[in-house]
Amino acid sequence: MAKEKTTNGSKRPNKRVEKAASSSAEAMKRIIGERSAAGGDDNKSTIDYLRESLAYEPVTLWDLRSGAEIAEAMQMSRSYQAFLDRAKTERAYVKETIARLEEAGFVPLDEQQRLLPGDRIYRPIRGKGLVAAVIGASPVTEGFNIVGAHIDSPRVDLKPRPLYDDAELILFKTHYYGGIKKYQWTSRPMALHGVVIRADGTTVDICVGEAEDDPVFCFTDLLPHLGRDQMKKTAAEVVTGEELNLLVGARPLPDRGERRFSLGLLKLLNEKYGITERDLLTAELEIVPAGRARDVGFDRALIGAYGQDDRICAWTAIEALAGLETTSRTAVVLLTDKEEIGSVGNTGAQARSYENVLLDIMQRICGKADERLWRYGLEASGMLSADVCNGFDPTFPSVSDKRNNAHLGQGVALMKVTGRGGKGGASDCSAEFMHEVTRVFDDAGVVWQVAELGRVDQGGGGTIAHFFARLGMNVLDCGVPLLSMHAPFEVSHVLDLREACAAYTAFLSRR
Ligand code: MN
Ligand code: MN
Repeated sequence: MAKEKTTNGSKRPNKRVEKAASSSAEAMKRIIGERSAAGGDDNKSTIDYLRESLAYEPVTLWDLRSGAEIAEAMQMSRSYQAFLDRAKTERAYVKETIARLEEAGFVPLDEQQRLLPGDRIYRPIRGKGLVAAVIGASPVTEGFNIVGAHIDSPRVDLKPRPLYDDAELILFKTHYYGGIKKYQWTSRPMALHGVVIRADGTTVDICVGEAEDDPVFCFTDLLPHLGRDQMKKTAAEVVTGEELNLLVGARPLPDRGERRFSLGLLKLLNEKYGITERDLLTAELEIVPAGRARDVGFDRALIGAYGQDDRICAWTAIEALAGLETTSRTAVVLLTDKEEIGSVGNTGAQARSYENVLLDIMQRICGKADERLWRYGLEASGMLSADVCNGFDPTFPSVSDKRNNAHLGQGVALMKVTGRGGKGGASDCSAEFMHEVTRVFDDAGVVWQVAELGRVDQGGGGTIAHFFARLGMNVLDCGVPLLSMHAPFEVSHVLDLREACAAYTAFLSRR
């Protein structure tokens, strides 16, 4: 951390305000008076002085971070990208996160009947969500420091009866998951991940398209030569949901007869995985962009990858938690599922399971049952809803209010409100809590910016914030800006990655 560097320079806005506040208004008038009296050139320094004392301007991390810190960010980016490559589904993400946590000394919550300060625990939520914590020294009535991110990402799922063949090609019917521009997902290599449960109850994990010599799959698109009618359609209709049919093969059984192409594939799947078409009916299979995360740009200052919404926040939150030694308040990281479709279901943020883990942790800290006490403990808690936001894109400036939009390379973005038109659905964070969080960040030398999602009435989006605000706790949205959010290849900034980790570390250690 480079506390000096960030807070140096009266460059940090809040320090400036503090400085200004410490000198009385009278003193300022005097300074301005003296400078004006000196005349000419000194007017400029008066303006500079006032600008430094009174005005707020965002800063760029490049001006604040040392060479060593930039190198550290690049190193962090290596680990982050490697993690993304291993964790392209929520199930894989939970598995990889558990491995990471165990390496950092975390143990399953259910193995601990009593929790003491410094204990490190985790509990998965049905293999698709996870709660991890470092137990603090202060009583549960003071509440927890919580960082919550989601680990599901937009993708394309298989329909329950996916397999068919047509015109000597073998295809899978699909149903997309989350908000995608469907045309972006055609004509590119795709991989298939998921689980199939066989007739005998055993589960087979499937992952095809990620290894160097694996085959891949794809959604086809129309050739431009015959695209005259298609090109007249709106982007929402250029490729429809029912046109996202995954090309998975073309080789039939040698014997002639009905469904010989589909049967050719079923035979192959049975030999490889021991599964039948009946087993596909209950399976969970997800189609995601094939290939690895990459550095973007000649200078490698950016990161391009699938699923950075919201795994960039999830990864940095877990890294922050794993790096904690002791804390005063208990530090908790929540990784939730189903955010992209409304945080529904028994693994989404609305599921009681997350709350239950928090109550279980409190019970094991207290050593006695007092639900009323725990409920107030939840209410006293503070949370960062760690989710990505849109970075300002100079190619598409019209959708943003530039001053009120997050910018890549300017640190974590704090969003008082999310939601849409007229703040509908927003979890409006209070001025008091937002101020407190910015103080915590300033004290730790964390660079932050404030943002809203695009222009008013342009669209909008939500996060898991309001589901936890409902428990009575203070919640503030705090995440990393991305370009091309929800596209198969999303772009983030290496210095924002490091800054997010620093921000979550500072918040999780909040006194
Ligand atoms: Mn998100
Ligand atoms: Mn999203």
